[in-house]
Amino acid sequence: MHIAIVGAGLAGLCCAKGLQEQGYCVTLYEKSRGTGGRMATRRTELGGFDHGAQYFTATSERFKKQVTAWRKAGWVAPWDAKIVTLDHGITRPAGRSQQRLVGVPGMRSLSEQLAIGLDIRYEQQVLDIEAYGKQWVLSVKSDTVAIPATAGPFDAVLIAVPADQAQGLLTVAPKFAQQAKAASMAPCWTLMMAFQEPLELGYDAAWVQNARLGWISRDSSKPGRRAGDHWVAHATVDWSIEHLEDEPERAKEKLLKSFHESTGSAVQPIYATVHRWRYAQALKPLGLDCLWDAGQRIGVCGDWFAAGLDGAGRIENAYLSAQALVKKITP
Ligand SMILES: Cc1cc2nc3c(=O)[nH]c(=O)nc-3n(C[C@H](O)[C@H](O)[C@H](O)COP(=O)(O)OP(=O)(O)OC[C@H]3O[C@@H](n4cnc5c(N)ncnc54)[C@H](O)[C@@H]3O)c2cc1C
Repeated sequence: MHIAIVGAGLAGLCCAKGLQEQGYCVTLYEKSRGTGGRMATRRTELGGFDHGAQYFTATSERFKKQVTAWRKAGWVAPWDAKIVTLDHGITRPAGRSQQRLVGVPGMRSLSEQLAIGLDIRYEQQVLDIEAYGKQWVLSVKSDTVAIPATAGPFDAVLIAVPADQAQGLLTVAPKFAQQAKAASMAPCWTLMMAFQEPLELGYDAAWVQNARLGWISRDSSKPGRRAGDHWVAHATVDWSIEHLEDEPERAKEKLLKSFHESTGSAVQPIYATVHRWRYAQALKPLGLDCLWDAGQRIGVCGDWFAAGLDGAGRIENAYLSAQALVKKITP
C-alpha cells in the first residue's frame, strides 16, 4: 500500500515512521523547505531562535517511553530553566511543572532526525485531494513550476496539518471537514531578539501577566545552543487575534515595547524580527485521537486532537494522535 502524508511536522513524521516500520510505502508532501512545522527553529547569521514551540513535556506513559529513546539518541535534552511569573516588573517563582524538554541543538533538530530515511517532497504544497477510482491523487503546487502538478495515485492519504488548513483539504470527506472546523486554532505573534551582552534579568523564562506578551524566554539558556543572548517572546492569544493583520514592523515595535515594560530592561537588541503564526495552537482540541475512514482510506492526525490529554494542543498531542492513526491503519 502506498500512502501519501500531507505535512512533515511532528505528527506527519511520526505517522510516516510508524507506517514505514510496518512495511508501508510512504511519501510525505511538505509545503516549506524543511521539516518540523511549528516545532521550528529560525536560523540566522547570529544563530538559531526557537520561534514556535518552546519546549515540551511528557505526561502519558507512551510519550514518556518515546522521549526516553530520543534522549538516549541525544536528539532532545532537559531544559532546566529558571522560570518566573512577571507582572509589571514584579517577579514571582512559577509553579513547578513536569520536566521540560527541548530539541538539541534546536527545536527543529528532532524533526530533522526523524526525517532521515523518509521520502519527503519539500516545497510541495498540496492544494487538493481527489478520488481516482478507489485511490487518491493530489494536486501539488511548487514555486518552481507554474501550474500545479498531479501526484499519485495513492492507496491512502493522511493529513497532518493544522485544523484550519486540514479543513480546506477535506472536501472529499465533508464529515471530517466539519470536525476540523470545530477545532479552529488561535494565532500567535512571535518576537525574536539578540542582545550584544546577556540581559541581567535573573531568570531564563517568564509567564507574563497583564501585558501584550504572554511568554518570554532566553533561547540561549537551552542546552546545546550557540553562544549569544537570544530571546523569544510570544504575544498573548487576545493580542495576536486583535493584531493579526498588522504590518510586521508595527507588531515588532509594539512587542518590543512590551518586552521592555515587562522586563524593566531598557537595553535595545542588536537584532529583532517577528513571525506571525496564523495557526499556532488549538485552544480546545477535539475530544478524539485522530480521524480514519477505513472505507475511503483517508485519515487525519495532529495536535488539535486531544488524544486523551487535557489543555491546549501540544507536541505530545501531535505524537499521540499520529500513533493512534498508525494503529488504526495497521491491523
Ligand atoms: C508560537 C507557538 C508556541 C508553541 N509552544 C508550544 C510549547 O511550548 N509546547 C508544546 O508542546 N507545543 C507548543 N506549540 C504547539 C506545537 O508546536 C504543536 O503542537 C506541534 O508542533 C504540532 O505538530 P503537527 O505535526 O501537528 O503540526 P505542524 O507542526 O503545524 O506541522 C504541519 C506541517 O504541514 C505543513 N503543511 C501545512 N499545509 C500543507 C499543505 N497544504 N501541503 C503541504 N504541507 C503543508 C506545514 O508546513 C507544517 O510543516 C506551540 C506552537 C506555536 C506556533
